[in-house]
Amino acid sequence: MTDYKKILESLPEAVAPYLGQGKKADYIPALASVPADKFGMALSTADGCDYVVGDANEGFSIQSISKVFTLSLAMHYAGEKVFERVGVEPSGNPFNSLLQLEHERGVPRNPFINAGALVITDVLLSCLRSPRNDFLDFVRTLSGNMDIHYDEQVFHSEYDNCHRNAALANYLKSFNNLEHSVSEVLDFYFYQCSLKMSCQDIARASRFLATDGKHPFRDERVVSPLQARRINTLMMTCGTYDEAGEFAFHVGLPCKSGVGGGIVATIPGEMSICVWSPELGKKGNSLPGMHALKAFVEKTDLAVF
Ligand code: GLN
Repeated sequence: MTDYKKILESLPEAVAPYLGQGKKADYIPALASVPADKFGMALSTADGCDYVVGDANEGFSIQSISKVFTLSLAMHYAGEKVFERVGVEPSGNPFNSLLQLEHERGVPRNPFINAGALVITDVLLSCLRSPRNDFLDFVRTLSGNMDIHYDEQVFHSEYDNCHRNAALANYLKSFNNLEHSVSEVLDFYFYQCSLKMSCQDIARASRFLATDGKHPFRDERVVSPLQARRINTLMMTCGTYDEAGEFAFHVGLPCKSGVGGGIVATIPGEMSICVWSPELGKKGNSLPGMHALKAFVEKTDLAVF
C-alpha cells in the first residue's frame, strides 16, 4: 500500500527550491500580507482517509478555487443548461481578459475564467433563495466544517480594487448575458472568492469529484457521475488558465487554482488533493504548489494518463 504520509512528508524538501521564486498576488491588497513561505498539502481519499503536511490546517483565501464549487452547485440546479451561456474551451488567455470577451461577443470561453464565473454566479443568483448563506452552507456541509466563513477584509479589499472585474461584468451585461444587476453579481462573486478555508477543508469539500459526484458525508449526490466527469475535464483543460497545457503535461491531473496560492486537484476514483503556497508564477498559479503536485504524481505514479 502506498505510504501517503511518507510521500507528503517528503514534499516540503521537494518544493524548497521554488520558495522565493514566485510573487504573491498584490492586486488584491489583503492577499499581499500573507507570509510568503507557507506551504501545506492535504489529501482526502475516496474511502474517507485524510493525510496532511505543513500548514494544511491553516485557513487561506480560496479565490478562484471557489469556481469549482459554484460551477458544481450551478450544474446541480440548472444542469447542462449553464453551457448555453458559457463555453467549454480553454482560454489560452489571462483569467481576467477583456479582449477575449469582446471578441466572443459576451459568451465567456469557460466557467473557470473570471467572466465565466460571473455568468455562473448570475445562474446561482436565480437558483438560490439566499445566495450568500446557501453557498456557505453548501461548502460547509461538503467539508464537514461548520466554522468556514467569508473573510470580510478580503471581500472589501477586492471590492475596492475591482475595476477589471467590474468591466467584465458590465461587458457581460451589455451582451445580455447577465440577468441580475452588475452590482448583485459582483457582490456575490467577491464573497465566493473571499471564503477562507484550509487545504484540509478544500480537499474534503472536493472529494465528490473523485467519487462520481457522491456527497462525502450524506447519502446523496452533489452532481451526477457525468457532471463530475465534466467538471474534472474542465479543470484539466481550463482550471489553470493559460498554463493549463503545462499543468496537464507536468502534473497530469485536473487542477483548479486560485490567486491566494491554493490549487485543488482530483485523481478520479482515488482522492482529492489541495496544496497551498502563496507565491504565484507568471500565469497566476502557485509555483511551489505546481511543483508539489508534480512531485506527488511522480512519487505515486497516480496521474490520469
Ligand atoms: N478574486 C480573483 C479575481 O477575480 C480571483 C482570480 C483567481 O483566483 N485567479 O481576480
